[in-house]
Amino acid sequence: MMNSGITQETDVLIIGAGIIGMSLARELTKYQVEVTVIDKEPDVSMGISKTSGSLIYMGLFQALSLVIKDLGRGFDLEAETQNERMKLLWEGFRDFDSIAHDLDIAHKHVGFLLIARNDLELQKINRLEHLAQFVPGGTIRRVSRDEIFDMEPNITPDVIEGLHDSTGTISIFGPEYVIALYENALENGAHILLACECLDIENKKGRFIVQTSRGTIVARYVINCAGKYADKVADMAQARSGWNLVFYRSQALVLDKRLEGTINNIIGLPPDPGKIDFLYPLGEGNIHVYGGYYDHIGDREFTDTTKENYDDAISRMQQIVPCLSEKHIITSYVGVRTFNDKELEDNLIEYSPRDPNFINVLVRMPGFTPASSIAKKVVDMLESRGLQLNDKPNFIPRRQAIPRFRFLSDLEKEKLIAQDRCYGHVICRCETVTEGEIVEAIRRGATTLQGVMFRTRAGMGRCQRNWCGPKILDILARELGKPKGSLTFKGEGYRLVCGGTES
Ligand SMILES: Cc1cc2nc3c(=O)[nH]c(=O)nc-3n(C[C@H](O)[C@H](O)[C@H](O)COP(=O)(O)OP(=O)(O)OC[C@H]3O[C@@H](n4cnc5c(N)ncnc54)[C@H](O)[C@@H]3O)c2cc1C
Repeated sequence: MMNSGITQETDVLIIGAGIIGMSLARELTKYQVEVTVIDKEPDVSMGISKTSGSLIYMGLFQALSLVIKDLGRGFDLEAETQNERMKLLWEGFRDFDSIAHDLDIAHKHVGFLLIARNDLELQKINRLEHLAQFVPGGTIRRVSRDEIFDMEPNITPDVIEGLHDSTGTISIFGPEYVIALYENALENGAHILLACECLDIENKKGRFIVQTSRGTIVARYVINCAGKYADKVADMAQARSGWNLVFYRSQALVLDKRLEGTINNIIGLPPDPGKIDFLYPLGEGNIHVYGGYYDHIGDREFTDTTKENYDDAISRMQQIVPCLSEKHIITSYVGVRTFNDKELEDNLIEYSPRDPNFINVLVRMPGFTPASSIAKKVVDMLESRGLQLNDKPNFIPRRQAIPRFRFLSDLEKEKLIAQDRCYGHVICRCETVTEGEIVEAIRRGATTLQGVMFRTRAGMGRCQRNWCGPKILDILARELGKPKGSLTFKGEGYRLVCGGTES
């Protein structure tokens, strides 16, 4: 670990520990290369990656995504199915099952059903069916009203016909993917410095001198994976080739897992540019709702939820599944999608015009789907710039997840409790998460309440930490050896305890 003021040297410095930075870090640890990752936040996956819809997708959903993200600009969508971005998306999608297997990431293949309720929506479905045939990964067929009711008994009675894709979508939990990459990259020798903000970058005699909040790092190559702050990091190295970032926010709802089985597929309405209407069942049983418009925002920090967005999403979800109501909502959050205005319809993966040993990597949504193939592409770009890529003979490809107590058989539970009694103590009742899992999450790097949540799901259920929050805080304080007053929800500015209750 680097202390403030200490200088450290590395071959490759990655700025940003989101899905892109961590995928690249893990890819580089396959070679005998010194890799360092820094992130300004106290944990990985705290930028855009935290708010991802958590779908890995191609097929019909990718076609739908092309229409939505056209944002009214009138791109040639058919041409977009043939470009390099689509190739990277396809490769990432194709490789995901094997990555999930190696890194023990919970994932579930789930069907996608697009429904029409009138002639106008039917026309839109026809256009999407045409577009989807150019996108790999899907198994798409028309479905009649009767078939739809067989699949989805709770769907709106207004439905007249639909389009179904049985193979193009995989549901995950985004932060879990990033955390798995982080743990595996660490085990394979990457240096990962959290709460370490990049402040300035200077190029001196072919080396980058990077000033951070935790000291100086000297690097041969710098990769800018800073997500919605990629412009600011690029400016530190004068590495912007005339692009700016454009931001769109949208608000999502998460519904109670007691609704498990209410829907069996991702269900959507035919989209318009910049408008999303779909519901999907997450692997853990909750339903996730995206309903409403992409709101263009000037302020990238505008992540407050609003009543207007909330009401909009409720009315839209009820247009698809009328029995869902406000009382089923357990939380709501905002994600900020980031585009670059130079290649609005494409990723921006480019050498800095000033110094090609600095590379900007700004993924165009979706980012989880192509992350592994983007990582390989950037490694190739580094090799072209002279980075030696000798295989690391002792690379460890596998990582094991923290035991998920709730999914174990009685026998497995008994065995685990016999090994460690903490697994017999349930802390989060909504999600059935044990003290053993929480202790293990802290051992693996969680230092905040949110870090524990993302690693174990403790606190992510119906009660939203009202029951288990103080108990998790006790465990965090005990395991980290810190006073409770110093602990935070997700870093400085988010303290959990203001003072004692003693008189
Ligand atoms: C609402 C929403 C839904 C989405 N749904 C999906 C989906 O279903 N499937 C899919 O594939 N994609 C989806 N996406 C897109 C996907 O989430 C993003 O493409 C992806 O998370 C971007 O990852 P990233 O690593 O580039 O950026 P980030 O995750 O933002 O990572 C950048 C990191 O850089 C750090 N950083 C910034 N500045 C500095 C600095 N100066 N010093 C140090 N660190 C710094 C930040 O703290 C951050 O952790 C969705 C996006 C949104 C907003």
